[in-house]
Amino acid sequence: MSPSAATHCPYCALQCAMTLTSPKALTPAETPGSEPVVAAPAIQVPAADTLTPAAPLLDVSGRDFPTNRGGLCRKGWTSASLLNHPGRVIEPLLKGPDGVHRPISWDDALAFVTSAVKQTRALHGADAVGVFGGGGLTNEKAYQLGKFARLALGTSRIDYNGRFCMSSAAAAGMRAFGLDRGLPFPLADLDAASTILMLGSNVAETMPPFVQHLQGARDAGGLIVVDPRRSATAAFTSDGGGLHLQPLPGTDLALLLGLSHVVIHEGLADAGYIAARTTGYDSLARSVASYWPERVQSLTGVPAGLIRDTARRLADGATKGGSYILTGRGVEQHVDGTDTATAAINLSLLLGLPGSARSGYGTLTGQGNGQGGREHGQKADQLPGYRKITDPAARAHMAKVWDVPESLIPGPGVPAVELLKSLGQPDGVRCLFVHGANVAVSAPDANAVIAGLRSLDFLVVCDFFLSETAVEADLILPVTQWAEEEGTLTNLEGRVLRRRRALAPPPGVRSELWIMARLAEALDAPSTFSADPETVFEELRLASAGGLADYSGIDYAMLDRGDAAYWPYPAGSEGTPRLFLDSFAHADGRAVFTAVAPRRRASPSSPAAEPARRNRGGKPMTLITGRLLEHYQSGAQTRRVAALAEAQPEARLQLHPAAAAAQGIADGDLVSISNARGEVACRAALSTDIRPETVFLPFHFPELESANRLTEAATDPISGMPEFKFSTVWIRPAAAV
Ligand code: SF4
Repeated sequence: MSPSAATHCPYCALQCAMTLTSPKALTPAETPGSEPVVAAPAIQVPAADTLTPAAPLLDVSGRDFPTNRGGLCRKGWTSASLLNHPGRVIEPLLKGPDGVHRPISWDDALAFVTSAVKQTRALHGADAVGVFGGGGLTNEKAYQLGKFARLALGTSRIDYNGRFCMSSAAAAGMRAFGLDRGLPFPLADLDAASTILMLGSNVAETMPPFVQHLQGARDAGGLIVVDPRRSATAAFTSDGGGLHLQPLPGTDLALLLGLSHVVIHEGLADAGYIAARTTGYDSLARSVASYWPERVQSLTGVPAGLIRDTARRLADGATKGGSYILTGRGVEQHVDGTDTATAAINLSLLLGLPGSARSGYGTLTGQGNGQGGREHGQKADQLPGYRKITDPAARAHMAKVWDVPESLIPGPGVPAVELLKSLGQPDGVRCLFVHGANVAVSAPDANAVIAGLRSLDFLVVCDFFLSETAVEADLILPVTQWAEEEGTLTNLEGRVLRRRRALAPPPGVRSELWIMARLAEALDAPSTFSADPETVFEELRLASAGGLADYSGIDYAMLDRGDAAYWPYPAGSEGTPRLFLDSFAHADGRAVFTAVAPRRRASPSSPAAEPARRNRGGKPMTLITGRLLEHYQSGAQTRRVAALAEAQPEARLQLHPAAAAAQGIADGDLVSISNARGEVACRAALSTDIRPETVFLPFHFPELESANRLTEAATDPISGMPEFKFSTVWIRPAAAV
């Protein structure tokens, strides 16, 4: 075990580099590997804020790296406090008939799981066993989880929470470029840009060290942010002379069509690039012809002058230091998210940005391994190497790597929302494994998801805390945290990074690789499963060879040397920091314009928006959701960090003063937010930073403050992405409820 470890933050996809050091030599009693951190005969679910934190076992310091340049945000600085958190699960816990979780041995825990799987398969078939994975799992875990589901469990029903995160942008990237890598260029390329258009992303809160890469464009007056709120990132534009476009929620696609219209009709398009490197221009041009700025203003609420100004700045920037278009979840988490990301790519292609050495289009991956998590086979429709599970050549390749008959590899499963809707249903999933996800808080229509979890015959959750999903589990298997394990992750640039172990886990804790290996053995899986991360990575290299996401030229030794490793990295190559410089990944080498159009979306005040709403008065508003500086994803980790919980202890509803006044709501009042799916309550935070018909609620909080009890499980027909960023809700003072 190293006294200090050079590793990366456990949270977001920026994967800031950090060094972990022991503040002092640990005595045996203090070493987490020698003593249980908590020993209790029976575990009642503790409230996150009722536990007294111990002093962190490790010091965290920022380390110089191209993405963070030594910087960390407050989430990263405080991450070590979770290693010896008193609420950590350190033994397998089995729920008794009284609903209380009690410790059991690992042998008994694995026997319970094995028995549950065998019984479910015998009674209902292999597809009655389901697996829900996570975008924070290491590459090794994500790879092994896909193999475990298909070969050890024999099920096609595997998907993961990245479906809620990157699926729309991924589908759009595949459609346009034939390849999906979040940023097809190093993040540092942004530094020299003249113009950056950022749509639906608030990096100043979600990944603050990112902001240094926007500084150059911002100082040049070229930073343009599209967000219905004046977010911290939108506010960053103001001093530099940049722009903030504040569209109505759900109208980003129309806005992008308007920008493309201006580019074409003002002669700003790069005709040479379009002729040489793309297909489908004529159809695209026809599709945007009717989106002139004044019409788009009426659809989006963005002034026509700003639309023209934005298009001109993008075109001008492309002839100077470069222009970049970046999208985030705000524009992607919609039922037309794939088409919206496609419209952003179309705009970038018109301007000749993708595949240029100093311009481009990219999407900002959110979860820590949101990029790698979608490449190695934990998606319902995918095999390792970013291969399609329906492709005969891909199936034959994987059958060879796994040394199994091809017939043993199941076909495609169902996307995450569909999988969750099937929980406990007659033809659905009856026994569910959850790894690295907290669906009770993070999935849309969370009340229905919780009911689904409760209807399962058996739920096993691998976690290190009693998350809201783990609380529902029949069995909780305690797993290692980031500082206790080796592995790799792939950051938002497509760069593969080493995660390194700084201390041993508590003795009752195991890695997910170990759990999968033991269960695979107990279930007589037809292939071998290793508990050693490097061995699994070596297999992943073979599995990925020849695929879109080819890791075959990457190994631990080169990552340990600090070599930059951007995939595709076939053996014998030097990797690919910048994609598409010579050609795109479609067979003809060209990028594809796809004509897209907005689908009709019911306005918040339309009865069609909420046919079964709770008609108890109040005003219909559009709810958008998002993140806060202090919290990450479902908050299962960050709500347990004392300093972060102190800074942001609760959800607050951001509400425009005019809308609040109409309801008799004052700042700090308790308000009810409801629709057909549920009702939550929290305090109002009045602000002119949000549009008057729109409200914002962070999604990090559970139970009565859970934003996803209000979001809808309607999905994008191409990507399966839920409609997180457009829900009709009714707001009223809580006293009136
Ligand atoms: Fe961690 Fe992301 Fe914060 Fe960096 S920006 S310290 S990776 S949470």
